[in-house]
Amino acid sequence: MSDEKIGVVVTGAAGRMGREVVKAVLREEDLCLVGAVDLRELGVDAGDLVGFPPTGVTICSDLQQVITENKADVLVDFTNPEAVLRNARIALNHGVSLVIGTTGLDDVDIEELRRLSEKAGTGVLIAPNFALGAVLMMSFARQAARYFKHVEIIEMHHDQKIDAPSGTAIRTARMIAEERGAFRQGHPQEYEKIEGVRGGDWEGIKIHSVRLPGLVAHQEVVFGGLGQVLTIRHDSINRESFMPGVILAIRKVRELKGVVVGLENVL
Ligand code: NAP
Repeated sequence: MSDEKIGVVVTGAAGRMGREVVKAVLREEDLCLVGAVDLRELGVDAGDLVGFPPTGVTICSDLQQVITENKADVLVDFTNPEAVLRNARIALNHGVSLVIGTTGLDDVDIEELRRLSEKAGTGVLIAPNFALGAVLMMSFARQAARYFKHVEIIEMHHDQKIDAPSGTAIRTARMIAEERGAFRQGHPQEYEKIEGVRGGDWEGIKIHSVRLPGLVAHQEVVFGGLGQVLTIRHDSINRESFMPGVILAIRKVRELKGVVVGLENVL
């Protein structure tokens, strides 16, 4: 491997997102796949896994070993909320920068990552959504919240997603809440005839999660005003939509200090 190349390890490499990341990394000349970690497809060449020529990197389950035996600069994690913290601790203990796509981390988890990254002097980028269109959707929603206080979020994902609501929906709600301040919307005496039918509540903003086969990742932010409705919608129609953002994050994360949340901070 030439010295200028960025050595990348992918955790969750055999998953739906991980496979796309493996392909995207293999396509980039300045990146070198040095490790592919997962609990399944063990021993399979990462190239074979994604329909590319063999790479010599085989899927293994021991991240610690992969990092100590290879020149790893950046770890990209698309696993699940339990695994990502374990993986992050290992990476940061070895001074490996982190790009986290896994959703479902809470504020306590992020605080721990902040402490670890500051101690290690190693950057961490957490992005609940790597699709550039989704980043714009969130930014437009923040803008609209200045003028429209009444809003609900509908996020729609494939039925194998385990966390709800999506990280994108929570981040959108957080951005809207920062902009419009505390606000109680809807009828004060509203009640539910079926529990949960009005959705989850984030500082007065209702979030509705739809899970169906056939969907990938979609979100509508619906604002209501006097005599008008404004809908901001984004659709990821396949997982390739996230890859330009992931590649950008891999290239930028080593310049970061501490934990940065949101792709918009490195655009
Ligand atoms: P997935 O298909 O279930 O893939 C996750 C993979 O990680 C599985 O192969 C899983 O193996 C493996 N895994 C579990 N524990 C592991 C460990 N300790 N070390 C290494 N690999 C491990 O899930 P996905 O659809 O790819 O989604 C992954 C994450 O990305 C989710 O949190 C999802 O919400 C998020 N996501 C983020 C974005 C974004 O833009 N930020 C976009 C889409 C999805 P087993 O199945 O054997 O457990």
